[in-house]
Parts: sequence; C-alpha cells; structure tokens
Amino acid sequence: MIKRNPNMGRLRAGYLFPEIARRRREFAAKHPDAKIISMGVGNTTEPIMPHICAALVEGARRLGGAETYSGYADEGLPELRKAVSEVYYKGMFRADEVFISDGAKCDIGRLQTLFGAGVNIAVQDPSYPVYVDGSVISGAAGREKPDAIFECEDCHSEDTGYGGVSYLPCTPENNYFPDLSAIKNDSVVYFCSPNNPTGAVANKAQLTALVSAALRTGSIIVYDAAYSAYIRNTDLPKTIYEIPLARKCAIEVNSFSKSAGFTGVRLGWSIVPKDLSFSDGESVNGDWARLTATVFNGASNIAQYGGLAALDSEGQEEIRALTDFYLENARLIRGALKAMNIGSIGGDNSPYIWARFPGRLSWDVFEELLEKYHVVTTPGRGFGPAGESFIRFSAFGHRSDIEEACGRLCGHPVSRQCGD
Ligand code: PLP
Repeated sequence: MIKRNPNMGRLRAGYLFPEIARRRREFAAKHPDAKIISMGVGNTTEPIMPHICAALVEGARRLGGAETYSGYADEGLPELRKAVSEVYYKGMFRADEVFISDGAKCDIGRLQTLFGAGVNIAVQDPSYPVYVDGSVISGAAGREKPDAIFECEDCHSEDTGYGGVSYLPCTPENNYFPDLSAIKNDSVVYFCSPNNPTGAVANKAQLTALVSAALRTGSIIVYDAAYSAYIRNTDLPKTIYEIPLARKCAIEVNSFSKSAGFTGVRLGWSIVPKDLSFSDGESVNGDWARLTATVFNGASNIAQYGGLAALDSEGQEEIRALTDFYLENARLIRGALKAMNIGSIGGDNSPYIWARFPGRLSWDVFEELLEKYHVVTTPGRGFGPAGESFIRFSAFGHRSDIEEACGRLCGHPVSRQCGD
C-alpha cells in the first residue's frame, strides 16, 4: 500500500464547516420539531439576477451550436481578462496579468502549490481556514514545533498554533488590524479585506503599512478581496492595488461568488503582476502561468459568459442590488445583537458580523445559541486562536429567515424598521 502524505496527518481536527454541520445534524436528530435557521455559513442564498442569469443560459446555448461551440479557454476568455482589469483595476493590468479561475479558494490552493514548502507563512488571526490548512497540506506549515502558545485573556483557554506560521492577532484592542512586525522575512502573507470572519475592512493607511512591511521583508502578499463588492464607504480601498507599490509585492484573488451569487457556478480570478519576482529573479507571473497550464484547464465557458455579463453596466447594477440585499440582512443582525447588548463589529461593508462574548468559549456560545434559539452560527475559535470568545454571524440568508432568527434573538418580531 502507498504511504499517506504525512502533511495530511498534521492537520488538526476536522475542517470547521463539516464539524458545524455534524453538530447541527445531532441537534436536529434530538429535536425533530425545531426549525433550525442558519446564520453561520458563507454560502449565498439568493437567485442569480436576471441579466447575468440570461448570459449563463446563453453561454450554455452557444455550446450546443456548431458555429458557436468552444472548448478549453485556458487562462480565460481574452475579453473577460480585459474586462476584469478595466472594471476592477481601472485597466492597470494587461490581460496576461489577469488569470480567470474556478474561484478564489481553488486559486489559493494552487498558489500554495506554487510557493511550496519552503516559505514562511503569516496570517491574520482569526482568518479564513484555507490559508493555514492549505499551507499545512503543502508542507509550508506544521513542520516544526509551534512558535507560539496562545492563551485567551477572556476565558484562559490555551492553544498552540502550527509551526511555520506567524499568527497576527486582530482584536478589539488593535481595532482588528494586526501588528505587522511579526512578519518574518520571505513570507507569504495572507490578508483578507473585507475580512472573513471579522468583517473589518483595512483603510488606505493600513494597506500602505502592509505593503511597506511586505517590501521590507521580501514577502509576497496574497490579498483576498472576495468581499470587495460589499464595501460602501468610498474611502476604503476595494483592492490592494490602490496602494501603488503593491504591484511589486502582491497577488490579488477575487471571485464572482459573493458578488454575483456564483458560489455554485464557480468563477474567479487572480491578478499576478509581471513586476513580481522570486529571489532568483524568475518571474512569479511566468511560474503561475506554467503551473495553471499544468494542473488547471480553465474555468467553464458558460460561467465566463456569465462573468462578462456581470461586468457590464447592467451586471454591475445587479451586483449592487444583490449585495445591498445581504447588507440589509447584516443591518438587521447588528440591530438584534445591539438589542441583546452584545458588542459586535462588521456588517456595514461586509456580510459578516463578529460578535464578542467575553469570558466564554466560542463553541459553548455556539451550543447555547443552537439550544436556546435554534440558530446555527460559526464559532470564532474555528478561525484561529484569536477567534476564541467570538461568534461569526453571516448575512447570507433569505430575508424571512433572517427576520425570524433576529426576532428569536432579541425577543420581539423583527422587521425592516429594526437594525441600527
Ligand atoms: N476567500 C474568502 C475570504 C472566503 O470567505 C471565501 C468563501 O467563503 C472564498 C475565498 C472562496 O471563494 P470562491 O467561492 O471564489 O472559491
């Protein structure tokens, strides 16, 4: 028999969301009459808007015609690569710096293959689990003894991180922007804004400091902008490339999942500027093109036609309307938490609300919310040591469910008048 990849054995516990699903199933089996409402997951719930959906249908139809049929589109339809650059980056990238993909998560996994086992890792703590877990699988994390032991000040729980990872705590004390001095030389720095799970959005001064830290330490930032379409405050940057020097030290991943509801369609992109190089002078863009050509055969043509429609003016209006819908849900959740006297951040430029339960373990709060209100949330601890004592609420849900869940939480019916 072949040997198991030892990196798989280094992964601790199960992936967060299957564990939540398991506990939900267990509760449902014990309480078959309970109407459980999910306020936890990041999966979208609302239909794809008509103009974009029509383009997906048309994309499928084209594949059925001899004149219009197309096969592999490799790094993406040229017109889509161009449109991404124009709509999201004011045309600052050439088409061969824009790589169309089947989603941001898949690209993060492939980037981890690109960087391999020989790099240091830095992550915001808490963070989207893929950054650390994927780094363990690629061998970059989890190799040696952990660098740090974490003790939660609120509840005194103790934990260790993975070796090879610099955890950058994002807490109420630092306004959810980390101390960057902990980034080691030659690191891959994962940075997500608007952040999953905290909902915090970095401002221009903070991103300027991040870019300076990356240039100083010879690091590359993997900037995850999957939620940029939720930013409403026009002073907040929607892309790391609003900081001019970022093109020398940052890759950006983004996606149509949370903006156009493409979670099940699968379409995203990565920007890999030609200015980026490795220590031996080789081009990062060149290696990325080589890697993706080797292990990826391009995003679905149907999805790419949908993506093109999402980038025209009608599509952009639809994205605005869809993200406005979820932001309204977020406002209702914030209002319910306020009525319960629970402190929270996020939900104004992001679909996530990060609620604090000082002195409590987040899995205990998760269980209590499930038992008492029949709502499923996400325990902050699942996103990293600094997530202990927090719960993530997600605004992805049908309005009637969100209103009902908020009503249960704050003890009175919730309607559009509620919220903060
Ligand atoms: N990045 C972040 C921060 C996310 O929260 C998610 C999904 O929840 C993704 C990426 C995944 O995006 P995609 O659906 O494009 O793979």
